[in-house]
Amino acid sequence: MKQFACGDVVAGCPRTFTAVDSDGILTEVNGHARSDHRLADVPAELVGQVLLAIREIA
Ligand SMILES: [Zn+2]
Repeated sequence: MKQFACGDVVAGCPRTFTAVDSDGILTEVNGHARSDHRLADVPAELVGQVLLAIREIA
């Protein structure tokens, strides 16, 4: 499983996401960015930061 803490990229955001793979994380982060961070689209640069911050969990 993969885990991503949004606070690693957006300071102060408490949300964490868990999915079977990075694509699943990105899908969840997309929805979260839209509704909670008011980003119409996640810029490629941010996607890169998200990918770097994703951790492998058991
Ligand atoms: Zn967030």
